[in-house]
Amino acid sequence: MNKPNRYSVFSLARHALNYHQDWARAWRNAQPKREYEAVIVGGGGHGLATAYYLARECGVRDVAVLEKGWLGGGNTGRNTTIVRSNYLWDESAALYDHAVKLWEGLSAELNYNVMFSQRGLLHLAHNVHDMQEIGRRGCAIYANGIDSELLTPAQVKTMVPFINLDGRQPVLGALLQRRGGTARHDAVAWGYARAADALGVDIIQNCEVTGFGIDANRVTGVQTNRGFIGARKVGCVVAGHCSVLADMAGFRLPIESTPLQALVSEPLKPVLDCVVMSGTVHAYISQSDKGELVIGAGSDAYNSYSQRGGFDSIEHALCAVLELYPIFSRLKMLRQWAGIVDVTVDRSPLITATPVRNLFFNCGWGTGGFKATPGSGHVFAHCIARGEMHPLAAPFSIERFNRGALIDEGAAAAVAH
Ligand SMILES: Cc1cc2nc3c(=O)[nH]c(=O)nc-3n(C[C@H](O)[C@H](O)[C@H](O)COP(=O)(O)OP(=O)(O)OC[C@H]3O[C@@H](n4cnc5c(N)ncnc54)[C@H](O)[C@@H]3O)c2cc1C
Repeated sequence: MNKPNRYSVFSLARHALNYHQDWARAWRNAQPKREYEAVIVGGGGHGLATAYYLARECGVRDVAVLEKGWLGGGNTGRNTTIVRSNYLWDESAALYDHAVKLWEGLSAELNYNVMFSQRGLLHLAHNVHDMQEIGRRGCAIYANGIDSELLTPAQVKTMVPFINLDGRQPVLGALLQRRGGTARHDAVAWGYARAADALGVDIIQNCEVTGFGIDANRVTGVQTNRGFIGARKVGCVVAGHCSVLADMAGFRLPIESTPLQALVSEPLKPVLDCVVMSGTVHAYISQSDKGELVIGAGSDAYNSYSQRGGFDSIEHALCAVLELYPIFSRLKMLRQWAGIVDVTVDRSPLITATPVRNLFFNCGWGTGGFKATPGSGHVFAHCIARGEMHPLAAPFSIERFNRGALIDEGAAAAVAH
């Protein structure tokens, strides 16, 4: 078992005496064993969180996380880091707020600063329909015990003084969640990896799963580019590639995979101290601790695994940003990228058993799964360890598509985030 250094101001001072030469590795470079109790496929935030909670809360420590690239190199390291729980339906509110509550103690729990910043998040409304939508959702969220406030345009202007309220789509109001905000995305992956490793989890990078061992309709392990690895249970948490993995196991998922893009500007002095989203104009924006504006674009209109995305999507996002914030018109953009998001028709995730026994999938988080990372890992670990759905996860099983019990979060997820 790895004994990582405990991070604190004292250990920082102690290691400074030795010119920071003797820090322990954050996690071991583990070599795959022949067999594990549980294998998690996908070393993004959700997969690593699952492994951590399996070891920490479910007592399952004989676990490997297999990642085909590097930790957090998928959507975890590509997202715009927005965290919130202002979803309409009871099932979603319970799941996403479970995650926000875990976020609130996460840095202390992992002994790793995930830079969770509850700076407040505004959802703008631009027309009568938007006003009705935020009114309905705000009340539903409030009734679920989650903080939510409806703001007038004047109150929006107080929070974001340079916003243009009178554009082509005037700002008529906003829904505010003060507990919403941002977190540092790759720190989340690294923090969970380090904590899971310390509990004995093997984290294996550059290890691609290429098939499943299945005997009498029960999973026996995974085929990888480093050989066969046996496992009594397998959890797949591969986001945009979930359909590829499901195909290897012989079934289909109700998921479409599309590119979703984001971009950052050159750094600015502090100018924006909350997150602002607009589904109608379609822009969402926040300022990172480095000063860059983090801007989310929309999903491309076609399915793809290209991780690039079309130029029109970026252009559209920047037009929307300038409509709301003309002050940014001379700002230079530093870089742009895309991730492949896994979208269900009701814009809610799939946390589910599958037709193959002991093979579980956690996917379908689409454009908005970063915020759910701790909650998703927590409930999925429970599902894998006990072989039955956690009460918070049960409504999100694939069965809902057979029963028509969809959890339609199209409005809450209308702007990619
Ligand atoms: C541009 C963009 C902006 C976004 N903004 C937000 C936001 O602001 N807020 C929010 O809540 N969400 C946001 N999201 C969505 C969020 O990023 C994802 O829902 C979330 O990060 C998914 O995490 P994950 O761990 O499931 O997936 P990932 O981080 O993608 O991890 C899956 C891992 O599986 C690995 N993998 C795939 N196939 C295999 C294989 N065969 N073998 C082994 N490993 C494999 C991949 O390499 C990858 O590392 C955004 C997404 C994008 C792309």
